[in-house]
Amino acid sequence: MRKILAKVDDGRLGRAVAGLVHRELVVEDVTRDGGEIRAAVRSTGKRGVKVYSVEFHVAGRGHAVFCSCDDRRKRGVYCKHIAALALHELGEAAHARSGHRQHRGLLLDM
Ligand SMILES: [Zn+2]
Repeated sequence: MRKILAKVDDGRLGRAVAGLVHRELVVEDVTRDGGEIRAAVRSTGKRGVKVYSVEFHVAGRGHAVFCSCDDRRKRGVYCKHIAALALHELGEAAHARSGHRQHRGLLLDM
């Protein structure tokens, strides 16, 4: 997840953290399956609620990321939804470690 976060610019990373802290970005319906993580990221803004599909895949020795928003699809950048899911997965892994529970299938080396 650190490799993914390293590709998010400071502005978008800041907006992802702010969104998670203020519950304006909510990561939902996470599925982890082998080399894939999929989730829905619900974004609440001035123009209402939108839900984006975010996916991380292992691709060779690297990774591929997808988001259904314009930032990723049209502008090709790593968006705040991608950052939100990466931060969410880091948090879930740390939470699982602190509780001595297993966290299956996490792609933490991305
Ligand atoms: Zn996005």
